[in-house]
Amino acid sequence: MTPHRAQPPAAPPLLQRRQFMQAAAATALGAAASGCTAPPPAAQAPARTPGHGRGPAVHTGRGSGHVVVIGGGYGGATAARYIRQWSARRVHVTLVEPQAAFISCPLSNLVLGSGLPLARVTLPYAHLARQHGVRLVADRATRIDPARRTVALAGGPTLAYDRLVLSPGIDFMWEMLPGLARPEARQRVPHAWKAGAQTMALRRQLEAMPDGGVFALTIPPAPYRCPPGPYERASLIAHYFRQAKPRAKVLVLDANDDVISKGALFKQIWAERYAGTLEYRPAHALADVDAATGALHFEFHDAVRADVLNVLPPMRAADLAVHTGLATANGRWCEVNWLTHEALAAPHIHVLGDALQTAPLMPKSAHMANQHGKVCAAAIVALLDGRPPNPLPLYNNTCYSFVNSDEAMHVASVHRYDAARQTMLTVPGAGGLSSAASALEGHHAWAWARNIWADTLAVPTA
Ligand SMILES: Cc1cc2nc3c(=O)[nH]c(=O)nc-3n(C[C@H](O)[C@H](O)[C@H](O)COP(=O)(O)OP(=O)(O)OC[C@H]3O[C@@H](n4cnc5c(N)ncnc54)[C@H](O)[C@@H]3O)c2cc1C
Repeated sequence: MTPHRAQPPAAPPLLQRRQFMQAAAATALGAAASGCTAPPPAAQAPARTPGHGRGPAVHTGRGSGHVVVIGGGYGGATAARYIRQWSARRVHVTLVEPQAAFISCPLSNLVLGSGLPLARVTLPYAHLARQHGVRLVADRATRIDPARRTVALAGGPTLAYDRLVLSPGIDFMWEMLPGLARPEARQRVPHAWKAGAQTMALRRQLEAMPDGGVFALTIPPAPYRCPPGPYERASLIAHYFRQAKPRAKVLVLDANDDVISKGALFKQIWAERYAGTLEYRPAHALADVDAATGALHFEFHDAVRADVLNVLPPMRAADLAVHTGLATANGRWCEVNWLTHEALAAPHIHVLGDALQTAPLMPKSAHMANQHGKVCAAAIVALLDGRPPNPLPLYNNTCYSFVNSDEAMHVASVHRYDAARQTMLTVPGAGGLSSAASALEGHHAWAWARNIWADTLAVPTA
């Protein structure tokens, strides 16, 4: 990622925006001169998204402006790419992301249960700059000023924006689990729900666990990031134990009353393949954790001790969204206008991805965040161009879950804007569910991942 520093905000916001745009144009020209940029957008083939229809045509209007995107995950990176592409590069885009590389949560459970190297789910950001001229800022946004339309960065300088896209993902409600208040306790009890160092820490704990030991996974009440993700993780770790530690056990302690995604399929697989290895206990609402003794305390059940604890704490929109006052749904999730993704709490700020108060039956998923990114990109390009946004946005979602190294299964849905209720509703009969896990679907799952990485990050598909 190429560090970039914008001009400090010495001037009033409007003037500052103009200055920034001049600097951005100069940088883009510099990149073109050094041969780093792709051909003009009109010459580029439209990118394909798994199961996604055609995007809007590159518009021919004169709208321009500066969009700052905070968060280079599935939502933010997609929005950054498509604002550039669909505005024919007239709109300047700055992507603020502290991580040097993109690490995918999808497929990261294979790192835990199937020995997949983390490098296989780690991808560069550089193609967004090279192919689309997105300016990459390797920094953390610390404060948004919605009135002045500026973003302060941990590194010092402040960015001004015409429109802000915020896709910061989730943070955890640690206040619900006092035993995990201290960082040492959290290191001992990883969540591994943001792929990266924690994924590897949990993997090492599993490898070090003795045969005959117990691994306990706690699942928070819905909504949380990736509804089937914990059940996939439990299946894959049971798969690992069957091969490497046949006397070890997986204990799934779910705050929900039942498996909340692909329930019949997961339970069938657990009964047929992992009986004696994996035990599922519903309605186990976690009250606290004693990291030192490895004890889990529940609201209505006896405490459980395990050798390796993997606690998924209750989740909410990431800190920056909450601190900016955008989490209007119970102080937890951000409500938006679904036509534009503009936050109900603040004009000119568009929120995407897991940070959202989702519409009915809309999962918090990478595929959905990618779709949010495209709908939002099209709306922002239209708004900057003085045109109305698409009045009937459509999203689709496919979520694959592996049950061992090779076999996977999927659930799919289509969501359409309902003007009367001003929300997204599922299209009856348009979704789908696997009848069983299979190796063929395992191939499809990898194809899905390669396609969405190519679409989100502009990386080559090969
Ligand atoms: C184990 C697991 C498996 C999963 N499997 C699937 C799957 O198979 N299919 C699927 O569709 N989904 C899956 N998901 C869900 C998917 O990962 C999320 O829904 C998706 O990542 C959400 O995208 P996002 O853009 O909202 O957040 P993220 O992808 O988390 O991106 C947020 C980004 O914002 C950055 N950020 C945060 N705060 C700041 C700040 N202040 N300044 C600058 N940057 C900031 C972060 O560094 C991060 O890069 C899985 C999740 C997990 C945990």
